[in-house]
Amino acid sequence: MKTIFKVMMMTGVLAITAGCGQKKSDFKYLLDEFADLKVMRYTIPGWEELTLQQKEYAYHLAEAAKWGRDIHWDQNCKWNLPIRHVVENIIENYDGNRDCAEFEQFIVYAKRLFFANGIHHHYAEDKFFPECSQAYFKSLMEAVGDGDKCAELLDVIYNPNTLQQRRSTSTDGDIVVLSAGNFYEGVTRAEVEKYYESIEDKTDETPIAYGLNTKVTKDASGNIVEIPWKIDGMYGPAIAKICEELKLAAACAENDIQKRALGLLVKYYETGDLKIWDEFNIEWVKDTIGTVDFINGFIEDYNDPLGRKGAWEGYVNIKDHKASERSVILSANAQWFEDNSPVDPRFKKKECKGISAKVINAVCLAGDSYPSTPIGINLPNADWIRKMYGSKSVTIANITHAYDYAAQESPTSTLDEFAWDDAEKAFYREWGSWADEIHTDLHECLGHGSGQLLPGVASTAMGEYASALEEARADLFGLYFTADPKMVELGIMPNKDAYKAEYANYIRNGLMVQFTRVELGRPNTEAHMQNRKLIAEWCYEKGAKDNVIEKKVRDGKTYFVVNDYEKLRALFAELLAEIQRIKSEGDYEAGKNLIETYAVNIDPALHKEVKERYEALHLKPYGGFINPDIVPVEKDGKIIDYQVIYNDDYLKQQLDYGKKYCAL
Ligand SMILES: [Zn+2]
Repeated sequence: MKTIFKVMMMTGVLAITAGCGQKKSDFKYLLDEFADLKVMRYTIPGWEELTLQQKEYAYHLAEAAKWGRDIHWDQNCKWNLPIRHVVENIIENYDGNRDCAEFEQFIVYAKRLFFANGIHHHYAEDKFFPECSQAYFKSLMEAVGDGDKCAELLDVIYNPNTLQQRRSTSTDGDIVVLSAGNFYEGVTRAEVEKYYESIEDKTDETPIAYGLNTKVTKDASGNIVEIPWKIDGMYGPAIAKICEELKLAAACAENDIQKRALGLLVKYYETGDLKIWDEFNIEWVKDTIGTVDFINGFIEDYNDPLGRKGAWEGYVNIKDHKASERSVILSANAQWFEDNSPVDPRFKKKECKGISAKVINAVCLAGDSYPSTPIGINLPNADWIRKMYGSKSVTIANITHAYDYAAQESPTSTLDEFAWDDAEKAFYREWGSWADEIHTDLHECLGHGSGQLLPGVASTAMGEYASALEEARADLFGLYFTADPKMVELGIMPNKDAYKAEYANYIRNGLMVQFTRVELGRPNTEAHMQNRKLIAEWCYEKGAKDNVIEKKVRDGKTYFVVNDYEKLRALFAELLAEIQRIKSEGDYEAGKNLIETYAVNIDPALHKEVKERYEALHLKPYGGFINPDIVPVEKDGKIIDYQVIYNDDYLKQQLDYGKKYCAL
């Protein structure tokens, strides 16, 4: 898994608050809500500290990113661009009555279309439909001079039996034939698989990503052929524009590594040669000193039923030097944490290294990352490059914060619904986001890397329980140390009490809130969710005699309240020691017993109550963003600055992009 998406159902509990940077009261983050979606915007902290050259570099990278928009639309389904052009025409030129329910329904469809970059839901991948009637849609098309396209396009839009899924999940049909995505045409799954089987060199230890940048079809004589996505191939006009901007960016890059990387990227777009794509990635990984960084290319293969074709994606970001320091400090002190962790000395590493990851702020989202965007990225994807040259792991701070702030603006939240009283809510709003981030840092930078197996114990000893136990171990390591005075001493935690916000939240979530994501009647099966339930449930039971965590009921609603934070920390320490023992000794039975006793079964009455309370909040499960504009400021014919303009109109941005970056 290379990208981490924010699961919106969890926000509002995991993250509602200021903390790392106070929310500016006059800046509105939540812009629009419709269907199951919400649209937000983000700020770019650190932009003003960039030099003019860095701003210029970021500007051209952002232009290059936006020029790829149409590629992604066409990849999602070949009908997407013609449909979008018709919808744009109606929004801009329809001069009939706009003040009626049907036109509003049309607008909701348009907003959903823009959000999904096409006619299929961005996440569920099923085709969605306008609520206005087909006859009404037809009348709109006729009114703006697109009547001749009705027969073809309206069937694509309204017919529930065609192009049902962008990526087919059929278990008995041909997933290549049934997928509406534009990666294959006129070929079957068996033909595609046979073709790649015939060209792949299985002995190559540094293989190219076969098929990453092509569409597969047949030529006139029925032979399988690949149509490459390159400057003189498919998507040529858009790729030419991308290359133009990449060359301008290279001219003002921060260092020679970036310059070389961009040169290789352009060469790859010109030739379609995947060997050069690998060379580019190796160079790109090396650049760890620059402030401005980017993603540009055919990257993730999730949209392809066969997992080969890269969805076009663009991303420009700047390093958050201050936030990145945190993981540097933690890594530098890795040995102290190891020596002071509450586990048996036999299971501790004698020499341990933390992992340093960087924190970034997004400057521009594009293609597969726009408007719905990940909050963490780990690239490149080629395993051999990751092994030989490393990878970049980033968390995207300004996007995470925008989610938090937008949740605060929402009239309802899971925090308000599930926290016991105003004091608990207020304390969480003040410190929760901060403490949550620190906990995540500890989990990622130190938790997973801590501890060691006893000699002779296989790393696979925990079998099917390995993931949940491993996540629990890393989480407990983070929970234990979030409360340590050392964290205040290192300047990472703001004060000795802030950790309590994370403790209360963790228990609430583990015992209750996270079950909103599990279907009624189903057990808890996902590894991270099992880990949280295991920890919370175990501490609830073991602390019962001291009333460490108390179950309270008010007006028929259940709450879990932490009464004794120090005792809770001691319980975390005890469970961490036990899970470390289980892992170090390879005690499969004990691991299995922990998971099956505490992590799997959800109390049906509580589950039903939690689902009902959540549904009554009417929260939108999916979120996306609009980009700020970056605008050159000229004086006497010279560019003297690049200014960031924060827009607040989602539809307008979509229509503007449609005009400005129309390449296909
Ligand atoms: Zn983890």
